[in-house]
Amino acid sequence: MLKFNDPISTDVLIVGGGIGGLCAAIASARAGASTLVAEKADTRRSGSGATGNDHFTCYYPKAHGENVDVILKELLNSLLGPWHDAKLSRRFLLESIHMVDRWHEWGINMKPFGDDYEFMGHAFPGRPRIFLKYDGHNQKQVLTRQAKKEGVKILNHHPVIDLVKADGEIAGALTLDVTGDVPSFTLIRAKKVILSTGTANRLYPAAGSPGWPFNTAFCPSCAGAAQAQAWRIGAKMVNMELPNRHAGPKFFARAGKSTWIGVYKYPDGKLLGPFVDKATRYVGDITCDVWNSAYTDVLLNGSGPAYIDCTKTGPEDLAFMKEGMISEGLTALVDYMERTGLDVSRHAVEFMQYEPHLIGRGLEIDIDGQTSVPGLYAAGDMVGNFRADIAGAAVYGWIAGGHAGTAASSCGFKDVEHSPWVEERAALYSSLFERDHGAAWKEANLALQQIMDSYAAAGPHRLRSATLLTAGLKYMADLRKNALSEIAVPDAHSLMRAIETLDLMDNGEIIMHAALERKETRGMHMRSDYTFTNPLLADKFLNVWQEDGRVCKQWRQRWN
Ligand SMILES: Cc1cc2nc3c(=O)[nH]c(=O)nc-3n(C[C@H](O)[C@H](O)[C@H](O)COP(=O)(O)OP(=O)(O)OC[C@H]3O[C@@H](n4cnc5c(N)ncnc54)[C@H](O)[C@@H]3O)c2cc1C
Repeated sequence: MLKFNDPISTDVLIVGGGIGGLCAAIASARAGASTLVAEKADTRRSGSGATGNDHFTCYYPKAHGENVDVILKELLNSLLGPWHDAKLSRRFLLESIHMVDRWHEWGINMKPFGDDYEFMGHAFPGRPRIFLKYDGHNQKQVLTRQAKKEGVKILNHHPVIDLVKADGEIAGALTLDVTGDVPSFTLIRAKKVILSTGTANRLYPAAGSPGWPFNTAFCPSCAGAAQAQAWRIGAKMVNMELPNRHAGPKFFARAGKSTWIGVYKYPDGKLLGPFVDKATRYVGDITCDVWNSAYTDVLLNGSGPAYIDCTKTGPEDLAFMKEGMISEGLTALVDYMERTGLDVSRHAVEFMQYEPHLIGRGLEIDIDGQTSVPGLYAAGDMVGNFRADIAGAAVYGWIAGGHAGTAASSCGFKDVEHSPWVEERAALYSSLFERDHGAAWKEANLALQQIMDSYAAAGPHRLRSATLLTAGLKYMADLRKNALSEIAVPDAHSLMRAIETLDLMDNGEIIMHAALERKETRGMHMRSDYTFTNPLLADKFLNVWQEDGRVCKQWRQRWN
């Protein structure tokens, strides 16, 4: 068995020091709770917001008027919709401007254009714009600095690998210390735990570069830890079967499409979408958000490729776009353009649809950010019934952190040190390190991607069915068995990757169980055996969870 370090106690444990995690930590500390962030990498540069972002969804009554529901409608119609419990989205919107004020005060420039907030991008012509444009290039450093200032403790290079429950409530977590070559375990006792581990990537072959699983548009180290670990202790998941795919420049795997100021075109110059014929910094071409599958469709029907054309964008807007790319963390792309002479005022750039991943699919939370396991909260990209990306992570992190921090004062610690569950999981992970030789974790990760792609494919043009999904579940179980008996890891880093791969297997299974239950075609969940969209399911969400080793599924009404 790998060594156990001395256990740590904290009122509130935050799992993942990304945008949601750091905002949750600050709110928890302000509520008077001792607060610890356990982060897999280093909070100064980790997660999908590592190098910056530039659009923050926000309701600003001064610009938008007094009726929040007008802005809620835009949110649900945007690329962030439509799988929301609207009552959560409404609370998010009402609190969003206060988070913007806080970020600005802490040192993230939310007003890069003057004295007031400006809204640009991801917008339809003639409709309210709900994305506040900001300069987020330093956001992770600022949030880390602020968290430390508020008394938050940060434990970098300590991925959480399992959650611990006692008497039906959350009691703490097991982390892997990967600070050296030889891994060890650190057990954390906590009264409340907030999960904030971001998107789940590396589930499907990387669309731009199959075989290079880390070339993903979102942070490749975010591998569905929250969904997998919460699933193992019985938390409810929601919307896991509804695939999401992002789009962006071909083969680059770079999110941030709304920072581009151009229009989408067929090779003959015809516009792809009906929204605008000239893009500006305020209203770009939203076709890419609305008809996300366009880039795949035009390849498969032969009418493509589809390009973004910035040649009609004025020089001032092009300079503005370049600055935006820096705020957004797309410096690698800017460098590439400069190095190779790729000049968007003269050259069109082909776009593509990236592989499916989980964002806004996962844990079900209530209005305060609490999951179905008492004392366990979730915020950010791995929440399944609300989504607003950077802003959603920040605001719901704040809500969950405040609630958990306050609630922690009225409860005590539970025993985690004598937990048979901890012993079982620690023995399993240790066995991968103790094995002298065997298969590399990456083989298992690539096999998992092949299974997902073959048997739980996402649209467009790819179908699921009961027979495919059932076969997929069988192969996934076989893969898990082989992985557990064959993977050998030489060091702490590889053990972390192997554990991520096991977590991804849980995510894959949850997706397949849920997809089997959704007997209809909706969005990119396309079934050959149920080719229609069932109107009776329009206002319903599907919960899946585990109870005594059994998979449970239940439809519920959406919360308005
Ligand atoms: C290039 C790019 C541009 C984007 N632009 C925008 C934009 O303009 N507007 C917008 O709204 N959104 C944007 N997004 C999305 C946005 O960055 C994310 O929605 C946001 O970062 C989500 O915050 P989060 O806290 O949920 O996850 P993240 O910020 O990704 O943080 C997750 C954290 O969890 C850590 N972690 C993972 N697993 C574990 C584990 N087991 N134990 C401990 N720690 C763990 C990770 O290392 C990471 O630090 C963009 C994304 C990218 C990649």
